[in-house]
Amino acid sequence: MTKIIYIDGLPVEVTRKRIKRINMRIKEPDGKVVISAPYLVPDREIIAFVRSKMDWIDQGIARVRSRAIMHPEPADDQEKEARRRDLKRRIAERLPVIEERTGLRCSGWTVRDMHTRWGSCNTRTHHVNFSLMLATRTDTELDYVILHELVHTVAPDHGRDFYALMDRFMPGWKTIRRDMKY
Ligand SMILES: [Zn+2]
Repeated sequence: MTKIIYIDGLPVEVTRKRIKRINMRIKEPDGKVVISAPYLVPDREIIAFVRSKMDWIDQGIARVRSRAIMHPEPADDQEKEARRRDLKRRIAERLPVIEERTGLRCSGWTVRDMHTRWGSCNTRTHHVNFSLMLATRTDTELDYVILHELVHTVAPDHGRDFYALMDRFMPGWKTIRRDMKY
């Protein structure tokens, strides 16, 4: 027995089960809020339960959706090529600007069909790879990933030097990192 209840505009899928307590989870990949509740608990108790957890729910939905963006649906080849062209154009535009501003330089770069990372840097050759997934991200997020990889040309790991350089060149970077999980 499943129904949707709207709580302050948020659709919540409620299923009645033979259980003792209300359980709530947020489903991948769309961030749907799903609740299992005992048969005898009235709707108003479920609504109060959800309202008391709104902050947790908002954060959970944001987290699940940003994970979904990390693993986008495979586009067809034509769409993929269009995305690749567009991303290359954006990187070709932004990378020299960021290199100029920071004095950090890579030896070359490639766009690759990577699904688990936004970018990588070969700390020996200073060649940088960017994930094709960046095609769907904002200019600010792209700038962040470009900077992140350029910083790795001089600070190989995420240690103190890395933090200091990121802070210096992009003061708001931690917020972007949190949203991108990178
Ligand atoms: Zn890194």
